[in-house]
Amino acid sequence: MFDRKRILLDLYSRLYNAFGPRHWWPGDSPFEVVVGAILTQNTAWRNVKKAIGNLKAAGILSPDALQHLPVQDLAAVIRPAGYYNIKALRLKHFWGFLFQKNGGDLDRLLAEDLDTLRGKLLSINGIGPETADSILLYAGNKPTFVVDTYTKRILFRHRLMPEDVSYDEVRSFFMDSLEPKIAMFNEYHALLVHLGHTFCLKKNPKCRECPARGWNDE
Ligand code: SF4
Repeated sequence: MFDRKRILLDLYSRLYNAFGPRHWWPGDSPFEVVVGAILTQNTAWRNVKKAIGNLKAAGILSPDALQHLPVQDLAAVIRPAGYYNIKALRLKHFWGFLFQKNGGDLDRLLAEDLDTLRGKLLSINGIGPETADSILLYAGNKPTFVVDTYTKRILFRHRLMPEDVSYDEVRSFFMDSLEPKIAMFNEYHALLVHLGHTFCLKKNPKCRECPARGWNDE
């Protein structure tokens, strides 16, 4: 019988044993995690780090400062993150929502239950499911699974999902199979990202040395 829980726990053990804890998400506060989650859309984390460093150096990494800064000025500061005009607008949309609906109180917003908060985040212009789930899991400590391109690729290559699988199908695959443990969902996503970066490359995956070699081969 197809035992999804056993299969997913097996991959988790393989990756954790090989890579150890990933200490993800880097950020000094839930606020910084939200900013990072929006900035990391379609770009590598090293570019996000530079953009966040610029925000810190300019003394504007705070809800009030981001709320009042003109969007063009914000775009100039976050330029290293790429797509900076769009991302500046997205940050402004998020903070517009936060100030209009929650008086600028991020903690109060993040205290809402998972499904209510997820629905609200997804209603904000520029916040898609991956960004919403990253905010929920890493800033809000909610037991949701973050799905990304690497996760889909790995499941496809191991014959667990079709190549064109949707975000929600993959999220359900994990969340319907595993206990809703925040620490594990946190670590599992980070391990899959590391696997995608180091072994399960888009071209020429390094299967021979990969800790997931033989996974789901029974
Ligand atoms: S690199 Fe190969 S063995 Fe490793 S996860 Fe990707 S397809 Fe699987």
